[in-house]
Amino acid sequence: MSGCHGPKMRMDPTLHKEKKPDWIRVSLPNKPEFWSTKSLIKDLKLVTVCEEAQCPNRWECWGQGTATFMIAGEKCTRACGFCAVKTAKPDALEDDEPKRVAEATKRMKLKHVVITAVARDDLKDGGAEHFQKTIEAVREANPGIVIEVLVPDFNDRDWALEMVMEARPHIFNHNIETVERLTPLVRSRAQYQRSLTVLKKAKEMMGGKIATKSGLMLGLGERKEEILQAMDDLLAHGVTVLTMGQYLRPSPKHLPVVEYITPEAFEELKVIAEEKGFRHVASGPLVRSSYHAADFRPELDLEE
Ligand code: SF4
Repeated sequence: MSGCHGPKMRMDPTLHKEKKPDWIRVSLPNKPEFWSTKSLIKDLKLVTVCEEAQCPNRWECWGQGTATFMIAGEKCTRACGFCAVKTAKPDALEDDEPKRVAEATKRMKLKHVVITAVARDDLKDGGAEHFQKTIEAVREANPGIVIEVLVPDFNDRDWALEMVMEARPHIFNHNIETVERLTPLVRSRAQYQRSLTVLKKAKEMMGGKIATKSGLMLGLGERKEEILQAMDDLLAHGVTVLTMGQYLRPSPKHLPVVEYITPEAFEELKVIAEEKGFRHVASGPLVRSSYHAADFRPELDLEE
């Protein structure tokens, strides 16, 4: 049981049986934009994290004509206990993928794009150059678009991170995913401190002129004081945008849900995070890293 909420917000113990509470239910697609986005992504042979990670909001986001592109293949070299992406030896990078992503953002008339990737520990640069090329291609095809990257840790290789930052994304996102104590259980190979360092270095490499963002999944057994500590750690490393959402188990092979956090508890955490100093906080059961990403205005940081 997490200490996320006080006595009034304690969950019903029957929820431990993995029966999802009502607030987790999502509606199915009913907008034509969902189907046109789906066919466009298929036509351009692209991969979206929306499908790979079985995101519960994909109906809503695609219905609004937005998507998060996952570059560098569908097979990850890591095996995080929460993640639905397949672990396998990845395929070679596709040279024309940056252009295909750019073409999709143009056809979809996106104003904000999120570009992410699996961890490519098989590549010396962890896929950094591929990120760089994709950012550049998107900017060229779609001037004025806000580009958000959600990157792996590149095994803390500064030169690889620099390749990404040289392409000047507007928002740099790297998720710490969970509190420090649970990191070895939840994340494969990634380290809590290393992720914080990556976030700090990315900001420093841009002279502070970039919004940095991170996210936590809740319901994995973390305690409230650990969440608050994670918030303090992120703020101390320059992070100004925070997302918090409910962990949902993709399959019985994945880590079990320890607790379903109530919407009220998520709201309470949002208020706490804002009081602590985050400039933008998205917190709720169905919030994911890229959920309503365009709602955040990165100019808040860039103006400084
Ligand atoms: S690094 Fe972990 S979270 Fe990211 S895609 Fe690979 S398995 Fe999933």
